[in-house]
Amino acid sequence: MSLNALTLKEAHEGLKTKQFSAGELLTGCLEQAKKINPQLNAYITIAEEPARAAVHSADKLISSGEDISYLTGIPVAIKDALCTKGIRSTGAAKILDNYIPPYDATVIKRIRESGGVIIGKNNCDAFGHGASNENSQYGPVKNPWNLTKVPGGSSGGSAAALAADSCIYAIGEDTGGSIRQPASFCGVVGLKVSYGRNSRYGVMPMASSLDTVGPMSKTVWDAAAIMETIAGHDPLDSTTFDKPIPQYTREIERDIKGLTVGLPREYFAEGLDDESRKIIATAIKQLEELGVEIVEVSLPHTKYAIAVYYIVVPSEDSANLSRLDGIRYGVRSSQAKDLFETYTFSRRDGFPEEVKRRIMIGTFALSHGYYDAYYTQASKVRTLIKQDFTGVFAKVDALLTPVSPFPPFDLGAKVDDPLAMYLADIYMVPVSLAGVCGLSVPCGFTADHLPVGMQLVGPALGEDVVLRLGHQYQQVTDWHTRKPSL
Ligand code: GLN
Repeated sequence: MSLNALTLKEAHEGLKTKQFSAGELLTGCLEQAKKINPQLNAYITIAEEPARAAVHSADKLISSGEDISYLTGIPVAIKDALCTKGIRSTGAAKILDNYIPPYDATVIKRIRESGGVIIGKNNCDAFGHGASNENSQYGPVKNPWNLTKVPGGSSGGSAAALAADSCIYAIGEDTGGSIRQPASFCGVVGLKVSYGRNSRYGVMPMASSLDTVGPMSKTVWDAAAIMETIAGHDPLDSTTFDKPIPQYTREIERDIKGLTVGLPREYFAEGLDDESRKIIATAIKQLEELGVEIVEVSLPHTKYAIAVYYIVVPSEDSANLSRLDGIRYGVRSSQAKDLFETYTFSRRDGFPEEVKRRIMIGTFALSHGYYDAYYTQASKVRTLIKQDFTGVFAKVDALLTPVSPFPPFDLGAKVDDPLAMYLADIYMVPVSLAGVCGLSVPCGFTADHLPVGMQLVGPALGEDVVLRLGHQYQQVTDWHTRKPSL
């Protein structure tokens, strides 16, 4: 097998036992990244030079015989919505086309301090807005399993780059499904952490009360290993928990016999594609065979989740994105003749349609006279959605749901119908609004060879439980080992 196809666990073992060098591993990934990018458009920037410099130090550390971390010398691809010091970070929007951050996001800093090697920056929906990766001003990303299909969004470039073996793992951002849905559409693992488990510092903010940063990986074990390095309290993000980080790689080895998993009735009602339903039913049976007790539960406020999400998120969005105005940093329109035109032209050209739509909705929802009717009301219903989860987690250890109501869809199919696109998020946004965690795990393929994932949902800081369920499931299934042919 070529080195770029290795899992993180395999790559780490290989480096530790000196079967190959980090330089060789990087070369394998870079070659693959350059080969697949013309087809998939998964990278906005391939950072060959900084990667070569980083790998040099990693190899020195490894040959010194010192104890290395799981991430030392491992090539990682980063969603372009995270700031990487010295490496262009556009957020997939032209307004930041020339932006080279002077600092690293905390998660990136931790990866670099562990000797990690950033191979490039992944295409995504601009600033995380979308579910198909068609809202990028750098062109859409293609699904490696079928080039006529979307890879999911917004971290679609990361999922596609990973599924195509051009990196060993990736880092994404999830506000309402952006890690989980592309992971499901591309047949990889994606963890949306509990709000506050990982630092948001240095992430281009979308909706600050929902944004999370997390791993995308080839196996659940890999996600557990990545979390051990990137998770935890950060003085630069006051919403992070000051709680110990479990040794996830040890926790997930524990038997899952006796755990109780709830199936929320509302997530299996009409609207779920039949083939996906059957695939998930088989996964549920397999978990039962491993000794998990399956019970039906109810999250009665699910039906309000999309409406609440698409008020709360655009509202926070409109405030966060106001900093991008062509004045402070980023691209300033060269056509502008005065201050007003500087603002309007820079924002007109620098944001794609969907971003502008969210800014308009959010500005309206927060405006005088409407604030209480929209934002305050949505925040109240958000509390009810959160209480649904608190209630259910008093009875079960985790929940199992679909990730997406349908498998990967055709490029162009929903791009002109924002409401249809928003409905793709139905099973993921309640988890985000509640601030709990969700893991997307590959669990089968459609007759057309398109990947389908299931979502394991855990309580706040319950990453260990969902990772354990996902890892044990992967011990008896091989969906995660399948590769697209490119
Ligand atoms: N589809 C969601 C949206 O467009 C995903 C957002 C995200 O998780 N970044 O809002």
